[in-house]
Amino acid sequence: MKTIGILGGMSAASTQIYYRKMCEIARQRLGGLHSPELLIRSLDFARIEALQAGGRWDEAGRVLNAEAKALERGGADFIVLATNTMHKVAEQMMCGVGIPLLHIADATADRIVKAGLSTPGLIATAFTMEQGFYTDRLRAAGLRPVIPGDADRAEVHRIIYEELCRDITTTASRSVYERIAQNLVDEGADCVILGCTEVGMLLDESNVPAPVFDTTLIHCESAIDWALD
Ligand code: GLU
Repeated sequence: MKTIGILGGMSAASTQIYYRKMCEIARQRLGGLHSPELLIRSLDFARIEALQAGGRWDEAGRVLNAEAKALERGGADFIVLATNTMHKVAEQMMCGVGIPLLHIADATADRIVKAGLSTPGLIATAFTMEQGFYTDRLRAAGLRPVIPGDADRAEVHRIIYEELCRDITTTASRSVYERIAQNLVDEGADCVILGCTEVGMLLDESNVPAPVFDTTLIHCESAIDWALD
């Protein structure tokens, strides 16, 4: 079994889901007392969020690059960056790192293409919805992402940072997300990407009227695939 290197804490709320899910999937696949070989480097998200909000992406990239190298030195066989947004600096993060990155957008796009779908609605941070680093990657895989309108993007983003990243889930915010997912489907989305690793705290197949691709769960499943390959 290969050793998974999780670069997380972005936020800590979703890194906990990663650990639980990976353990669950490994147990289902291997049975008995099996659990995944892994390292978790969990960063202080306040530090990372300040860099994001200040547009200091280069500095954030340098921080993640040092951490990816530390995971490699610690024995990880590949890197799982447990956040969609920080894939904005994935290239810089992997500079001089000798082990591969399991890219969250590639793993997700692959699933959608295999399911025969083409037009995913995207619910994520404003960075992920608005900047090309993520949607271009989906387009390169042959998909046509649909994103919410201005006001809805702002509200999705606010709920991620003010609530979900702090482990807060409310009925009011769940209703907002449900309405936004419904709008995306009404506008032609044939599936919905939960493109932020915390969005699965509010949405899943039971309250979205289309197939759901939860990036956290897909990332965990793909990581266990790689680890057992
Ligand atoms: N975990 C989130 C994501 O998947 C948002 C927090 C962050 O900016 O890293 O994008």
